Amino acid sequence: DNISSLKQYQPKTVTFQDVGGLDSLKKTINMKIIKPFMDPGLFTKFRKKTGGGILLFGPPGCGKTFIAKATAGEIGANFFPVHISDILDPFFGQSERNLHDVFKTARANRPSVLFFDEVDTLGYSRSKANSDIMRPLIDSMLTEMESIDTGTDNLLIIGATNMPWDVDSAFKRPGRFDKLVFVPPPDMEARQTIFQLKLKEKPLSSDISLEILATKTEYYSGADIENVIELATENVLTEIMETNQERLIGMEDLLYAIEETIPSTLEW
Ligand code: ATP
Repeated sequence: DNISSLKQYQPKTVTFQDVGGLDSLKKTINMKIIKPFMDPGLFTKFRKKTGGGILLFGPPGCGKTFIAKATAGEIGANFFPVHISDILDPFFGQSERNLHDVFKTARANRPSVLFFDEVDTLGYSRSKANSDIMRPLIDSMLTEMESIDTGTDNLLIIGATNMPWDVDSAFKRPGRFDKLVFVPPPDMEARQTIFQLKLKEKPLSSDISLEILATKTEYYSGADIENVIELATENVLTEIMETNQERLIGMEDLLYAIEETIPSTLEW
């Protein structure tokens, strides 16, 4: 078994409550994935097709993987994150076999959310030299995806990419990744929520203003905010160990950490 990344996700479940902002995305996932899964009968009655996947795109660190994991949490499904690069194998036919194994494992452990990161890696137009390897893999992926009925199969597919323009256009047709959803950098309100969520179990002084923190972090991704909090915590701990005086994490610590952290969504 050479796909080391295909481990069942064990850490504590996250749900939509843990995801800051992204309200319209939550609604889309609800309608496209969660509802057909919870109430397939309703969709059958209305002759509404279910199936196909959602392709999330946007700058790194803004919650694509996180919301996919939370989707699994919402419906009590197993979460299987897969990096396309882990499937690729130069040996003839092996990539397709790896992909097939991924689907097989996810099927065997239903209900499952199968999350494919770096879907753009399959865009063979990017590297014509690789097209001999990529074409059969792309075709296998399309075949696997088309054979799934979200409503009855209890197997959900979510894809993600930072480079949607590189995703092979064959993936964007009905029954495949037919919903393309932008996952934006968190806005003011979302940043406030993310700070709140990530700070809630820390020993905080009473001067913390989530609003000011959110104002000072324009262009910061959710992952950047996580880094800010990590850095502030580390600095306070270092000080405590050096001075032997315990204290809480204060506003100043966080503001300093913000200045030391470069926002990552500006470049995208
Ligand atoms: P990449 O494109 O690099 O794979 P991504 O969009 O998949 O990035 P995630 O891995 O989902 O980003 O986000 C990184 C971390 O940042 C998450 O584990 C999560 O803790 C935090 N995070 C990002 N966005 C949010 C959000 N909207 N709410 C709460 N936490 C978030």
